[in-house]
Amino acid sequence: MTKCLYCGSKDPVKFDLCQNCLDNIGFGVKFNQEVDILDELLIACEYKSLIKDIIIDFKFRDKTYYYKILADIMTDLLLKSKIIKDYKYISFVPMHKKDLKLRGYNQAELIAKEIADNTFLELIKPIEKSKFTQQQVRLANQNDRKKNIENAFEITRKIDGNIIIVDDVITSAATISEIAKIIKDKNQIKIAALIAASPSII
Ligand SMILES: [Zn+2]
Repeated sequence: MTKCLYCGSKDPVKFDLCQNCLDNIGFGVKFNQEVDILDELLIACEYKSLIKDIIIDFKFRDKTYYYKILADIMTDLLLKSKIIKDYKYISFVPMHKKDLKLRGYNQAELIAKEIADNTFLELIKPIEKSKFTQQQVRLANQNDRKKNIENAFEITRKIDGNIIIVDDVITSAATISEIAKIIKDKNQIKIAALIAASPSII
């Protein structure tokens, strides 16, 4: 049997992780602001300790195989939430092509693809990031983040069913709100966000 995908030392119990690693994850986090434009906001974990390390390694240190841990945790949350029956599509926060070239992969896309494989949701790519923006984490206040991401995305096709948008981390919710806004401009549908992690204090 394969070992824990994170520490490599013990047998996995759940989500490809051993009990010791599972115990270091803060499942569930309360997001401290209302995001009215979303019909649902599901966040799987608190952005700290093991999950923080996994996401940083996944995004910046080429540990692309970590998508499976995050996707399985998020699938579990999605199925437990019972909202899944209202949704037809799954997608992800797109990256600008310059960023994509630099990283070589979109971490949110890898997660969304696995969740689609785990469920009956259909993976579609109706959004493009057409404007090159600064990294949201580098901007301190909510207003700057909102301005930075404004008009950064384009809808490239009609969406004829409710959609879940996947991302790895949510902080100010500026990015996901901007995406939801442009989708709802043209489509009378429900939008849910499914996020791997959020810091508990923003
Ligand atoms: Zn482990």
